[in-house]
Amino acid sequence: MFEVHNPADGSLVGHVHAGTEDDVNDAVRTSWEAFSLWSDTDPLDRSRILFSAARLVREDKKELSLLLTREQGKPLRESVNEIAGFARVLEYYASITGTLQGDYGYSKNYGHMMVMRQPLGVCAAIIPWNMPALIMGWKTGPVLAAGNTMVLKPSATAPLTCIALAEHLYRAGLPKQVLQLVTGSGRVVGQALARHNNIRSLSFTGAVSTGTGVAEIAAPTLKKLILELGGSDAMIVCKDADPYAAAKGAVSGRFFNCGQTCTSIKRVFVDSTVYEPFVQKVRELAETLSIGNGLSDGVDMGPVHTSGQRKDVHFLVQETVNNDQGKVLSGGYIPDTGSLKEGSFYPPTIMTGVDPDAPVMKEEVFGPVLPVSAFDTVADAIDMANATRFGLGASIWTHDMRTISQATRELDAGIVWVNQHLRIPPEVPFGGVKSSGLGRENGRYALLQYLEEKTILINP
Ligand code: NAD
Repeated sequence: MFEVHNPADGSLVGHVHAGTEDDVNDAVRTSWEAFSLWSDTDPLDRSRILFSAARLVREDKKELSLLLTREQGKPLRESVNEIAGFARVLEYYASITGTLQGDYGYSKNYGHMMVMRQPLGVCAAIIPWNMPALIMGWKTGPVLAAGNTMVLKPSATAPLTCIALAEHLYRAGLPKQVLQLVTGSGRVVGQALARHNNIRSLSFTGAVSTGTGVAEIAAPTLKKLILELGGSDAMIVCKDADPYAAAKGAVSGRFFNCGQTCTSIKRVFVDSTVYEPFVQKVRELAETLSIGNGLSDGVDMGPVHTSGQRKDVHFLVQETVNNDQGKVLSGGYIPDTGSLKEGSFYPPTIMTGVDPDAPVMKEEVFGPVLPVSAFDTVADAIDMANATRFGLGASIWTHDMRTISQATRELDAGIVWVNQHLRIPPEVPFGGVKSSGLGRENGRYALLQYLEEKTILINP
């Protein structure tokens, strides 16, 4: 058994089974047994089940959000939005189930040329703890809508909300064999899924190092791989940007979910002419954030998910200071008094004058640290933004059309926002370039990933 603890105070939230390789094999076998039934189910019936699950989840959103906050640490308000996000993703896929038709053409030489789209079969997913509900929606929505069955491994430290969401899908009429959760460690359950010979696709979300390890293990099986990995998103603030909106965007884009989002703003580049007022505004706003147990009223930021991760975050801040590559303007310490001592809290931390090669800029800092640097030309800012192995998201804050046009073309990222950051609607593809991954979540594109084209040539 695994124990699940609340990172705000260490209290026990629940237990889950420590899954084994046999559990994975059993789940894959029963998943194949359910495949013909589910893939033959009329798309409209699949759609009804997804809509109905979304409705049940919305009805229980209070209880589900409490569970999410207790096991993950995020403020209740963020949990409520994430649970609603899960429901919204299911509703989106329910609304397009069955819309992906095949293609048809005729040629005198070859006759009738048709392309059928068929579900792949058993698909697997491995998901992280940072947004467990939303990411479970991103994986299950398109997989189930397309007629596949699924074996999903939640994170070992935040599996309970995923289990509760699966229960809602079953209550809505989804046969249990169609979606099976195998809880446990990445080393045992995750690797068993990666090396399994009878799984047709594996969608993994997590760190780059884990993802590349998974890809190596999965390679001989030739299953389709979708890798949604880390990011180090840059925010570029131009001289004409609305200073208040940009500062607000930086604070919410960095400190939301305690900085533990793949597309959190992890580096800020500000035009040197507006650098000082921008930094002051960010500091003012960050210092009004209330930190504490996500279950308490009015809390804006919860704890870092584990104490080990907080140690990693603090180490990168200290290394940057020790190397003279940036200064701490606020935060940057491990709280050792009051209730914050009970959990793995870390204050909103702002670092200024940060060298783009400093550890807090080069590594993915998965915690509430906002490093800021100045730039002289937009071309320099784009170069600095691109000078990383990551390529998940980036944002540019300006109203100048030429700059928008240049930045949207030149930034190496799977998603570029203008005058906003960290907004991910289910209707459009989301994913990274470079080391940030392969493939996409969301939109019709994700549905296509879970269907295989079959060509049929009929000579009349
Ligand atoms: P992680 O890589 O440690 O774990 C992710 C999942 O992989 C967990 O379920 C874990 O149990 C499993 N795992 C761990 N070791 C494994 C192994 N050897 N083989 C197979 N599975 C294994 O990541 P995390 O700490 O849970 O999440 C944070 C990371 O996820 C960050 O890098 C973040 O940027 C990334 N992330 C990316 C996206 C995206 O859409 N691109 C979204 C959210 C998070």
